[in-house]
Amino acid sequence: MQLADKSIDQTCAHVASKKPACSRPTPGATTGGCAFEGAQIALFPYADAAHLVHGPLTCLGASWETRETKTSVEGRDFTQMGFTTGMELNDVIFGGEPRLAKAIAYIVEAYAPEAVFVYTTCVSALVGDDVNATCKEAALTHGIPVVPVHAPGFVGSKNLGSRLGAMDVLKNLIGTKEPQFSTPYDINLIGEYNVTGDMWQYTALLEELGIRVLSTLSGDGRVAKIRTAHRAKLNVIVCAKSLNAVCERMEKEYGIPYISVSFYGKRDTSDALLQIAHALGDEALMERTKALVAREEALVEAKLLPFKTKLTGKKAVLNTGGNKSWSIASALQDLGVEVVGTSVRKATEEDKEKARKYLGENGVLMENPGAEQANLIKERGAHLLLAGGRSLYTAIKQRVAFVDVNQEKKVSYGAYNGLVNLAHDVIKAIENPVFDVVGRRAPWEQ
Ligand code: SF4
Repeated sequence: MQLADKSIDQTCAHVASKKPACSRPTPGATTGGCAFEGAQIALFPYADAAHLVHGPLTCLGASWETRETKTSVEGRDFTQMGFTTGMELNDVIFGGEPRLAKAIAYIVEAYAPEAVFVYTTCVSALVGDDVNATCKEAALTHGIPVVPVHAPGFVGSKNLGSRLGAMDVLKNLIGTKEPQFSTPYDINLIGEYNVTGDMWQYTALLEELGIRVLSTLSGDGRVAKIRTAHRAKLNVIVCAKSLNAVCERMEKEYGIPYISVSFYGKRDTSDALLQIAHALGDEALMERTKALVAREEALVEAKLLPFKTKLTGKKAVLNTGGNKSWSIASALQDLGVEVVGTSVRKATEEDKEKARKYLGENGVLMENPGAEQANLIKERGAHLLLAGGRSLYTAIKQRVAFVDVNQEKKVSYGAYNGLVNLAHDVIKAIENPVFDVVGRRAPWEQ
């Protein structure tokens, strides 16, 4: 499987300084998802491909449809369906390859997908099924790509799984087809999963500038497009440092340079558009982008005015992962909110530097947010907690407003329009009396 090789990320500062791969679960500690979950979450937005989990039924249940990754695929949308081989005791004893081959044949015949992704899990990996050989044979038989994805849960964290899944796409799909035509402004979006339609908040702006999104890994993705990704002029990593290694590899193999941007908040969205234009190296494009940025900033400022009047002076604590630790902080600051602390538990060294830059010397970078966030809310008099669903109870106990900014969110916070959505949700939470009432003692207990 060459897991060791695939897990090397030479571009992350934290990797060079501390450890050879992403963090592994600590026994007894609450952990995030397994590597298989990470791989499936990363590739699931390819809605014209069937995603077949080779393992027991429970593995599928762990990761399926945990995020609202919107798609524009017309006809059969495979993000609405889950496939598993449902391995049982006999498959463990005698091997699960026949069951896998049968499952692929059934899916192709009954659903006619553009491709089948086959995910190994702890069970199929430990049994030692030759998933590569079965997939290769199935691809020849059925005439469509059948991609083995090797990220069984036991190899490590969700982040590592996302990277391994992306590496398997690079190995098996990218470079296997030529685009109908190329332009000097073709880009790939890497690590943008279009959760709640985040990507659609800015792709229209890219199109207006004449920049074509050749393919995505993997938001609103198409199998046919990702196969042509090797012809892009630029890879744009959006909010997913775990995929730096994939871009590094594409730079070596296909000479495609890459940049890392964020599309959360006004300043970062403008910066992302300007960075892309700059990297494509066209003066006229740069001028067009500056004009578009000025227009969009003026438009969004006008929309934000009533929100900012209410939000200026409010203090927030942020507990989210990866580069959202600083990108959402930056979006909140765009709304006039002071961010007094942010979680950097799952952040790289580079993310931590950016978080420090945005929060300033007085901002707290929480390494252990589960234990720190309640005290921080109290000490700094924060009005608001933005985090994942599990932190809701901290907000209730501290009687502060709560906004879910993780994958369970239902509305897009991406780009300029998303910032207006975020402002709307923050105001709704602050003005919602429930957070104050629910944390009080009952009258007869006082
Ligand atoms: S840890 Fe293993 S058994 Fe559990 S969900 Fe992940 S792949 Fe399946």
